Amino acid sequence: MNRRDFLDKIKTVTIIGLSYPTISSAHSRINDSIITNSDKYTDHKDIFIPNDEMKDFISVRRKLRQVQRYVGYGNFNIISFDYMLKTAKYASKIEQFSKEEIDFMEKTFYINPSQYGFYGKKVSTKITDAINKKDVVKIPRTGHYLFKGKPEKTYYEMKKDIGDTMVLTSGVRSVVKQMKLYLDKVYRTEGNITKASKSLAPPAYTYHSNGDFDVGKKGFGYNNFTSRFALTEEFYQMKKLKYIEMRYTINNKDGVRYEPWHIKVI
Ligand SMILES: [Zn+2]
Repeated sequence: MNRRDFLDKIKTVTIIGLSYPTISSAHSRINDSIITNSDKYTDHKDIFIPNDEMKDFISVRRKLRQVQRYVGYGNFNIISFDYMLKTAKYASKIEQFSKEEIDFMEKTFYINPSQYGFYGKKVSTKITDAINKKDVVKIPRTGHYLFKGKPEKTYYEMKKDIGDTMVLTSGVRSVVKQMKLYLDKVYRTEGNITKASKSLAPPAYTYHSNGDFDVGKKGFGYNNFTSRFALTEEFYQMKKLKYIEMRYTINNKDGVRYEPWHIKVI
């Protein structure tokens, strides 16, 4: 599917709601483009968001964004699913999640992602798994949290060895935070769930929920989440440290892309 088809499809769903004839014609267009392989990034085995879930995909993303704005970026990293639902319900400017939207998030959480080429281990067993605020510590000036104990200790040890140009770019992530990141990634891959799952773990499968964290070079922005990070002085220093390990190495068995910035803790 090319970008224009995807945006057309989203517009159709947003404006007309569940207008099946229009969507199914969009669908056959998508299948055509897959068969002719006109999009060089599209593999014919890739799985896309089904048309009948597009409406919920759009509204869930919107509501997650609203909740994030309401509770704040830092807090959103650690809130539980139940707290998120409650926030949407009681905040005056956010509409509560419908049953269909909750079903959509549950499916996204509980589905076996090996069909998307993701083979990592399950980390969170229930969508309602919550992070205890007493177990985490806020890292100043980052908007992120780390688990107390080994993750926090490892981070400060790295900072001592590498220097202050190394920063925390992502720490603890609750199921809710990973759900948002994952659906945002699916949006950026134009609905291609298979492609999204290669660069971001599905909500139940992120090690950010139990200790792992990401580091980057100060001021390097989005580059910190690309292979360009591997060319930085900070990464060069990191490789010399004996007490850390990379989670997603080149050709890892989880099916995740190479992530030199992701520190394996547990
Ligand atoms: Zn990471």
